[in-house]
Amino acid sequence: MAKLLGKVAIVTGASSGIGRATAVLFAENGASLALAARNVKSLEETKQMAIAAGGKAENIQLIGADVTQVADTKRIVEETIKKFGRLDILVNNAGAASMAGVPDSHFMRPLDVYDYVMNLNSRSLVALCQEAIPELKKTKGNIVNVSSVGSFRPIPEFTYYQMAKSAVDQLNRNLAVALAADGIRVNNVNPGFVKSNFAANTGASAEAVAAAEELWVKPRVPMKRGGEPREIATTIMFLASEDASYITGQLIVIDGGSSINVPAVPQPNK
Ligand code: NDP
Repeated sequence: MAKLLGKVAIVTGASSGIGRATAVLFAENGASLALAARNVKSLEETKQMAIAAGGKAENIQLIGADVTQVADTKRIVEETIKKFGRLDILVNNAGAASMAGVPDSHFMRPLDVYDYVMNLNSRSLVALCQEAIPELKKTKGNIVNVSSVGSFRPIPEFTYYQMAKSAVDQLNRNLAVALAADGIRVNNVNPGFVKSNFAANTGASAEAVAAAEELWVKPRVPMKRGGEPREIATTIMFLASEDASYITGQLIVIDGGSSINVPAVPQPNK
């Protein structure tokens, strides 16, 4: 059944990974799509995948945008309204664990790394929500944020990233309370390790990416595998649809059990 028929959705970070899988699943379910990311060539690939899944070309808009730039976040919403005349769903998915070329966001990294990581993973969501909320009030729409299981588990190499995702969790709760009377629901998905371009985009070497499953995933994840982007998209789809009509302010962890496995990282033996 097409659960998003007649709905208009913005998906940020739709050029890859979880955002791409979400765009394809939303297209399968009848949504019109405004897909945003910096790499328009990769967005075009997502569009072709969405069409193959049943989407109509005329219902898929591509918006080249850098969400760390406020003018771009404003433009994402403006161009969506200009084309489709309404907005029902905002999926705040764009994100990365560090700056391009910097392999982690350890707490001793320079503050420009902190500023970028906080801007991309937290401030940009505030900017997008500020632009989208007036439109979502008209449609009694909803917001789904892609946070991380790392928002409540320490991995010191990714301190800035995890701080940013914790801020997203708190944004989620506050918006859910503030917007409930307007009929707007707000929820998070908090994934664990997902097989996407996430590690490579953070600056991890090809060898490190190839070794991640053995070194990072198997010792920590009870299900002994990383998640597929589609396994996150299905929960985003659920939260964005009427199936979740009485769910707001929630953080849904999708991590193969990693967050119930203690400890997340080996403890220093001092
Ligand atoms: P990918 O690296 O595969 O995708 C990231 C997406 O974000 C790309 O489409 C990229 O597009 C976009 N993006 C990055 N920077 C910007 C920017 N400045 N402006 C606009 N778009 C941007 O990773 P995932 O699909 O895994 O990541 C999606 C979300 O999931 C992120 O928020 C991430 O933090 C979260 N997450 C991922 C986990 C994982 O293990 N993979 C675990 C937990 C959470 P482009 O480069 O074209 O701009």
